[in-house]
Amino acid sequence: MVRRLSVRSPRLQRARRPPPSAPPTTAPMDSPSPPPPPPYPPAAAEGGPAADSQAAELPRLTVTQVEQMKVEAKVGEIYRVLFGNAPNANSLMLELWREQHVEYLTRGLKHLGPSFHVLDANRPWLCYWIIHALALLDEIPDDVEDDIVDFLSRCQDKDGGYGGGPGQLPHLATTYAAVNTLVTIGSERALSSVNRDNLYKFMLRMKDTSGAFRMHDGGEIDVRASYTSISVASLVNILDGELAKGVGNYITRCQTYEGGIAGEPYAEAHGGYTFCGLATMILLNEVDKLDLASLIGWVAFRQGVECGFQGRTNKLVDGCYSFWQGAALALTQKLMTVVDEQLKSSYSSKRPPGDDACGTSSSTEAAYYAKFGFDFIEKSNQIGPLFHNIALQQYILLCAQVLDGGLRDKPGKNRDHYHSCYCLSGLSVSQYSAMVDSDACPLPQHVLGPYSNLLEPIHPLYNVVLDKYHTAYEFFSS
Ligand SMILES: [Zn+2]
Repeated sequence: MVRRLSVRSPRLQRARRPPPSAPPTTAPMDSPSPPPPPPYPPAAAEGGPAADSQAAELPRLTVTQVEQMKVEAKVGEIYRVLFGNAPNANSLMLELWREQHVEYLTRGLKHLGPSFHVLDANRPWLCYWIIHALALLDEIPDDVEDDIVDFLSRCQDKDGGYGGGPGQLPHLATTYAAVNTLVTIGSERALSSVNRDNLYKFMLRMKDTSGAFRMHDGGEIDVRASYTSISVASLVNILDGELAKGVGNYITRCQTYEGGIAGEPYAEAHGGYTFCGLATMILLNEVDKLDLASLIGWVAFRQGVECGFQGRTNKLVDGCYSFWQGAALALTQKLMTVVDEQLKSSYSSKRPPGDDACGTSSSTEAAYYAKFGFDFIEKSNQIGPLFHNIALQQYILLCAQVLDGGLRDKPGKNRDHYHSCYCLSGLSVSQYSAMVDSDACPLPQHVLGPYSNLLEPIHPLYNVVLDKYHTAYEFFSS
């Protein structure tokens, strides 16, 4: 499906014309130089009636509008270089700097500077961001695997779940990060280090009477807690009717009038929560409870003229949403039959809240739930990309890569491990999103830049590399 890029101002609408020299595989942005951000109108107190009437005629820009124009100017500058180049120079410019990324990521596993003390409660996340990014590049170093397994074992609480560091309170987010890291390492030692009985007890303890989950003892209840819990439980094959009960209805209540999903009921639609909510509903086999057409519409229009995604309406583009929004749309490519059913019946087939899919029959055993994640990835895409997959690759390669290695939110920002992980995850999703068969390889025209840019495919419900998922699935099914 070919989709128009979102337009947030009349100036942007003009800017959508492709420059004549643009190669067909890249996405255009601005043709002329964008004007600098206009100054704020003078304060009324500084002038008399004339100044007042002048101020009344000038639109007052918000801080976000000014920031938006600055970002567009920076991104436009980069894209103008691309379109001014000869095609062979473009290939160089569009290269994924693998070696530099591997060096930056590997260094992060062994040494982090003093400023990282603020992430002391996120150490399993650092493991996941780095190890998953290296796995996408197919470059996990052998000599660190045992150290990581030992470290994460020390983060595992005696009553189940993983804390942010040894001796810290177990938390669902760091539990997700720890388990995904161990699955990505994939050795028997790594996979068998997860105490699944205690993990199940920890998750039941985090379950609220509403059915939703809280992040930790006494912690907040939100969609993120439901996703991290259901994703981990599905991955290690402990998801059952008891854990699943009521979660789908909670997430349904978090879908907003915009179509996206918020962190909690009555909050604002957000890319991170939209991915979390959608993936959870698929893992529970309750995705038909969401209004999928409006969800797709909201996410698709979060891709802007910069070619990357924004996380919320009227926010700035950010590389990490390449995954959160891009993967949400990649998931919906396999859900078109559900969308069609919903559109035909005007959503009358949606189960009303309270009619929970989970009973207490034998069909709610763990093996039943584990199949949903497994079967989903085996399904073919039922439609082409629902976002501009080449444009997204262009944003990641040109605007998010840092020359010394690592990836970032946007030009002008520093690299970090979080953005390195999610920019590369989004790059993988966009490279594979035009495929029809789930086991084929992407065609060269679907990979922007040299074909050596192609990353490992992921299982988008869990965000782990696909062959690592299959190893874990075998291990935890036996
Ligand atoms: Zn970000």
